[in-house]
Amino acid sequence: MTKALIGLEIHAELMTQTKMFCGCKNEFGATPNTNVCPVCLGHPGTLPRINKGAVEKAVLAGLAMNCQIRKECQMDRKKYFYPDLTKGFQISQNEEPLCYEGYIEIQGEEGAKKVRIERIHIEEDTGKSNHTEDGSTWMDYNRAGVPLIEIVTYPDMSSGKEARLFLENLKERLKYIGVSDVKMEEGSMRCDVNFNLIGEERKTAITEIKNLNSFRAVEKAIDFERERHGEILNQGNSGRKETRRWDDGIGETVHMRYKETAADYRLSVEGDLPRIHLSEEFIEDIRKKLPEMPHEKKIRLMEQYGISEYDANIISAGKTLSDLFEETVNYHKDASKVCDWLLVDVLRLKNEAEIELSQLKFGAKELGALITLVQSGKINQKTGKKVLRIMFEDGKTPEKIVEEQGLGQISDASALVEVVEAVLKDNAQSVEDYHNGKDRAIGYLMGECMKRTRGKGNPQLFNSMLLERLKKN
Ligand SMILES: [Zn+2]
Repeated sequence: MTKALIGLEIHAELMTQTKMFCGCKNEFGATPNTNVCPVCLGHPGTLPRINKGAVEKAVLAGLAMNCQIRKECQMDRKKYFYPDLTKGFQISQNEEPLCYEGYIEIQGEEGAKKVRIERIHIEEDTGKSNHTEDGSTWMDYNRAGVPLIEIVTYPDMSSGKEARLFLENLKERLKYIGVSDVKMEEGSMRCDVNFNLIGEERKTAITEIKNLNSFRAVEKAIDFERERHGEILNQGNSGRKETRRWDDGIGETVHMRYKETAADYRLSVEGDLPRIHLSEEFIEDIRKKLPEMPHEKKIRLMEQYGISEYDANIISAGKTLSDLFEETVNYHKDASKVCDWLLVDVLRLKNEAEIELSQLKFGAKELGALITLVQSGKINQKTGKKVLRIMFEDGKTPEKIVEEQGLGQISDASALVEVVEAVLKDNAQSVEDYHNGKDRAIGYLMGECMKRTRGKGNPQLFNSMLLERLKKN
C-alpha cells in the first residue's frame, strides 16, 4: 500500500485599490506599464510603505480559514533575479507569517476531513513576461507590487480529487469575504502542488508542480504524479527533489529543474519597513466583518429549515441566492416548496435570460405570495408557472396577474360537476375503456376536464369527482 501526501501553495491577489508598497493602481488589464512608479520598479533610493487595506484583507482571509493571527511580525527580503523582478528581491514573509495554524474542512472521499493550513503570509507579486511568437519577450510591470497572500497547507490531502475539493472550498471562501476575485484564468489565483508518495519501505522525494491553470489541471497532474512516483518506488528508488510543470496539451508533467533550497534565496529581514503591530481591537473589528461561511451556512440551512443537503449545497454557494431563499421563507413557511420553486423554476428563467439573480423584477415577498397561491389551491401548479413567467417578464405581483387574467382555480365542486358530466357523456368510449380496466382512460378524461375549464379546474378535485362518478356506472 502506498499513500500520497499532497500539500498546496496557493497565491491569491488581494482586491485592493492600490499596490502593496506604493500608491499605484491595482487593476487587471490596464495598458502595459501604465500603473508603475519608482517604488514598484525598484529604483534606487525609493522606500516602500505598507498598504493597510492589504493587511486587513489578509487578516480577514486568515480568520475565514480559522487561523491564528500574529500580532507582531516582520517582512523579509527574498533575493533572486528574474526579469520580472527589477528590484532583484521580493518583499515577502518568511520567519513570521501574518496568519498561521488554521484549517478548512472539506467533504472528502471518506467523509468530512480537516485540511490544516500551515501559514498565510503577505507578499508582493512580480511583473509579467509576455512571450511573443517571434521569440521576443515584452515585460509588463503593472503587476509588480500587487498584494498577494500565499496560503500553504500541510500535506493533508491524499488524492487529486481531494485537492480539487479543497481548492473549490478555498475559492468560495475568498470570494465570499471579498478579498480576492480568485480567477485562475486571469492569474489572480495560482496554485502549486507538492507531492510525494509513502511506500512500505521508503518514500519518494517531493516534487513541486507548477503551471497549473485550472482545478482540473491540478487534479490531473496529481493523478499523473501518483503513477510516476509509484514507478519510482517500484524500481526501489526515491527519486530526487525537483520542480516540474504541467503540460495540458500532452497531459503530463515535465521536468523543469532540481529544486532551489531556501539558502538560494538569501533571505533577510526587510530593513526598509518597520515591524507590523496589530492591536487586539484591529483584529476583533475585522472578525466582526466575517460573514457566515458557505459551509456553516449549509449546515444551518439544513437544520433550521429541514431542507436536503443537495438543496442546501446549491443555496449556500451564493449570498444573493441564500438571502432570497431565507427572505422567501418569511413569506411562505414551507421551505421545501420554496426550494422547488426557487431552485428549479426561478433559476431556469434566470439562466435562460442570462441575467443575475439581483436583476430579478420581483422579490421574496412576491415569490412567497405565488407559492402560497398554489399551495392554497387558488391556482394550480401549471398556472403558477405561467404566473411566474409573467412576474419574471414584467414584475407584476402574482395576485394582480391572477386577477387580471382570470386565472383563479375553480375549487368549487358544484361549479365543476357539469363539466364532469358533459365530459363523460361526450366520451363514452373512454368510459367503456376505463371499465374494461384501461386505467389510462382516466388521464384522458382528466385532460378533457382541464381543457374545458381552460386549465382553471382543480385537478385533484376533478380526479376524485371522476373516480366517484365512474364507480356508479
Ligand atoms: Zn508603484
